[in-house]
Amino acid sequence: MNMARLAPYAVTEAVSRGRRHAETPPRERSEFQRDRDRIIHSTAFRRLEYKTQVFINHEGDLFRTRLTHSLEVAQLSRSMARALRLNEDLAEAVALAHDLGHTPFGHAGQEVLDGCMKEYGGFEHNLQSLRIVDTLEERYAAFDGLNLLHETREGILKHCSPANARLLGDIGQRFIVGRRPSLEAQIVNLADEIAYNNHDVDDGLRSGLITLERLDAVAVFAQCRREAEAQWPGLEGRRLIHETIRRMIDVMVRDLVANTRANIAAAGVASLDDVHRAPALAAYSAALSPKLRELKDFLRLNLYRHEQVLRTVDRVRCIVADLFAVYMANADLLPPRYRACAALDKARAVADYIAGMTDRYAAKAHQRLCGGSGFC
Ligand code: MG
Repeated sequence: MNMARLAPYAVTEAVSRGRRHAETPPRERSEFQRDRDRIIHSTAFRRLEYKTQVFINHEGDLFRTRLTHSLEVAQLSRSMARALRLNEDLAEAVALAHDLGHTPFGHAGQEVLDGCMKEYGGFEHNLQSLRIVDTLEERYAAFDGLNLLHETREGILKHCSPANARLLGDIGQRFIVGRRPSLEAQIVNLADEIAYNNHDVDDGLRSGLITLERLDAVAVFAQCRREAEAQWPGLEGRRLIHETIRRMIDVMVRDLVANTRANIAAAGVASLDDVHRAPALAAYSAALSPKLRELKDFLRLNLYRHEQVLRTVDRVRCIVADLFAVYMANADLLPPRYRACAALDKARAVADYIAGMTDRYAAKAHQRLCGGSGFC
């Protein structure tokens, strides 16, 4: 990364608040590249391959998983960070880590685990991502977790309740005083949305749960489809779908970059501190925002709440709930490391263990301990 190319409000090593444990500086890469590399080499990152995005992992080999989703978010984040002259390595690191804390079985798994943890402080996947990089990964002799830079940790922690923020020390401070995270973090947050809005259209069409005809009711899709068909008359099938989706991604990325650039200029932002103090700068234009809301609403009603998806969700809810009950009743069933943590805080140790499971590992554990038939 050419540091001279960076905008004055980008995060740099010079303004970084550093790591919790002091380390020798890396020699052939930047501190932010080191963070990215540590995330890629982590156990939690590899587990993303077998965790549900929307479709349960065993439903098909071509659907997105948390891993391929995270790679798409990283690609979009890097492109936009570069276009805005932000710290591309930081954006990439945050993007690759943003979903590390997800439970097996996607949002259904998180909801159930949060319900189980109600009396014990709750469970939130975003907070769990931070917990993984701060304490749960066991890789380095000198410290727990990955000892990432403050700015990478700040980007991972997208949202946080005031009560949790008070428990988190300096990383939670911004939620108490109302400061924005870096532009790199803001960009990743929206890259996440661009990635899932588009790949869920693709996966939804592939699954047959939604159709091209119904999607034509969504303005941004219809417009991009018309453009693809005008350029390639007679185009159909997978190529038409991809030519439409690539245009939608392009519309969203270009709008976001142009509008964010305009917001930065309008707010007179000239330093990282200005970014922290300004209102959210990374945002879509007023013209595109309602169109994206329409697409999101379509996906919620027609895909995420499709009866076939909900049926699977119901089947997997019991896996997480049963496992929680079993380990709470008998902490000796936990692996040694979690058993040791359970002596201090049993519920949190159980939640950490279950959250770390992949879909199939959870299904197998359920089969073994509860006599379930795998996916219930
Ligand atoms: Mg995500």
